[in-house]
Amino acid sequence: MTEKLGLLDRLAHGVVFGAEGYVFELERRGYIQAGPFVPEVVLDYPDAVRELHREFQRAGAEVMVALTYYGDRQKLKTIGREGDLEALNRQAVQMAREVAAEGDSLVAGNIANTWVYDHNNKEATSKVVRQIYTEQVQWAADEGVDFVIAETLDYLGEGLLALEVIKSFGLPAMITFASVQHELRDGYSYAEACKILENEGADVVGLNCTRGPETMLPILKQIRQAVSGYVAAQPVPYRTSDEQFSFQSLKEAGQERAFPIRLEHFLCDRFEMADFALQAKEMGVNYIGICCGAAPHHVRAMAEALGRSTPASRYSPDLSLHPMIGKNVSETDKQYLKFWKD
Ligand SMILES: [Zn+2]
Repeated sequence: MTEKLGLLDRLAHGVVFGAEGYVFELERRGYIQAGPFVPEVVLDYPDAVRELHREFQRAGAEVMVALTYYGDRQKLKTIGREGDLEALNRQAVQMAREVAAEGDSLVAGNIANTWVYDHNNKEATSKVVRQIYTEQVQWAADEGVDFVIAETLDYLGEGLLALEVIKSFGLPAMITFASVQHELRDGYSYAEACKILENEGADVVGLNCTRGPETMLPILKQIRQAVSGYVAAQPVPYRTSDEQFSFQSLKEAGQERAFPIRLEHFLCDRFEMADFALQAKEMGVNYIGICCGAAPHHVRAMAEALGRSTPASRYSPDLSLHPMIGKNVSETDKQYLKFWKD
């Protein structure tokens, strides 16, 4: 048996390709409630989580991210399941490990913005956040994660707390910000904050969630210029624009806010996400992935754009075999092609 390469070894060799968006996808499948978005599915329908891990791994993801996003003490309290906290966190990592072992994937622990941190009340809120992160990372470390992703953070201050806790367990740390605003809530630009995290010892820094390819790429460029280490980018597959630059702000004319359960109109197709993967790679992004809204077809197209062949590539499209738009269309069928807008 050869030893599995760790995150830093893989990054030293080239792009590491991840995939996330578990909460959104499992909400669409009927296993998570939109609103609280607490991953109760880990305990209630574990097979649904295993299945999605497998689908992402088959599609080329080389990181199985334990579904502990919003699985923290405060969040579980909001749905009255605080008593399930430890079981949920441990089981999520166990399942990620189980599926990762079927392939060659790394296992990532996952912590997120707590909605507790407040830079204007830093001392008191930092104490609570540190407790939340410490118990989650402790369980993740116990269950054998390879590294920890702290993500969708709105404050540099919260990112620094996450980093401190992850490092206290001796694990590699990937810290990524949400970018709902033009800068972080504690006033730092995303590039500035990434540089500070890097100086403090973060192994990978960057952005996840919130922005689609078009509006994430310009900030990634600034981050790439600001830091010398590894950069991560995991956008949402939605068509954000200069006017509506986050998926929280997307809105069709005359409609309610699209976030978070009316976003389909803005969904990127697999080609757009494949194109993002290529552009990010060319820009020098080291960890490329996808966030809320992701489905396995996006993931496979991105992996293939990065030059990889995945288990699911066995079923990658071959439209030349299609009876109407393929190479060998019968004379009978040809007369109807005008309706296919050939
Ligand atoms: Zn997301």
